Amino acid sequence: MSTTVPSPTAPVIRVRGLTKVYGRGETAVHALRGTTLTVERGDYVAIMGRSGSGKSTLMNILGCLDVPTRGSYLLDGTDVSGLSEHQLSILRNRKIGFIFQSFNLIPRMTALANVELPLAYGGVKPAERRRRALAALDLVGLTERAGHEPNELSGGQQQRVAVARALATAPALLLADEPTGNLDSRSTEDVLDVLDQLSAAGRTIVLITHEDEVAKRTKRVIRLVDGDIVEDRGQ
Ligand code: ADP
Ligand code: MG
Repeated sequence: MSTTVPSPTAPVIRVRGLTKVYGRGETAVHALRGTTLTVERGDYVAIMGRSGSGKSTLMNILGCLDVPTRGSYLLDGTDVSGLSEHQLSILRNRKIGFIFQSFNLIPRMTALANVELPLAYGGVKPAERRRRALAALDLVGLTERAGHEPNELSGGQQQRVAVARALATAPALLLADEPTGNLDSRSTEDVLDVLDQLSAAGRTIVLITHEDEVAKRTKRVIRLVDGDIVEDRGQ
């Protein structure tokens, strides 16, 4: 594609010169040192780096859970700087599906009810909510477990419910922080297979991982060292 022709749609992520400084003066920690990054629709990206390299800081900013010290962030074409907490929470609900290391499912609520939750927050009517939640559970292969509560599911199944919950709102971006960090190798495979299928279906996925076997599956690997991107390669 020619670079002179503007893309018909904005990139999902467009960050320019992001810095994040925690604290001030002599004890200030420069967690990000001018990160510039573009993620296009359909990209599948692993962010890797040692503990303390700035991965969570970057994820929190990309997830609109924290704001940078300097720099700009356009999420799916929307400039997030200057938005209020309330506006950010609406943007998060509409644009981002989060997947956490510890699943973060609500106990004593069925898988189906868990998946419906972000749709309920988004104001989707009950019948439509149910239809979309069931479709999302079907995508992760858990139709048969829809009526089960988290403690009746394996770790891998719980994380697949969490993936369904992240998907249900049809977000522009799936953002996962160590999604297989709490899983055994078998469940890791199951969850990665689901993410691969979602990527193949055109979803945009950004995940943090320590594990080479996870990063091997993605289309692109970004490596952070001390708050700098030192490597960004397609594969
Ligand atoms: P990673 O997720 O790669 O382990 P982080 O983004 O959590 O890295 O941290 C990057 C750097 O910022 C580290 O030096 C860390 O100690 C520091 N840091 C992270 N969060 C805070 C905070 N809330 N206050 C002060 N320093 C922080
Ligand atoms: Mg971290």
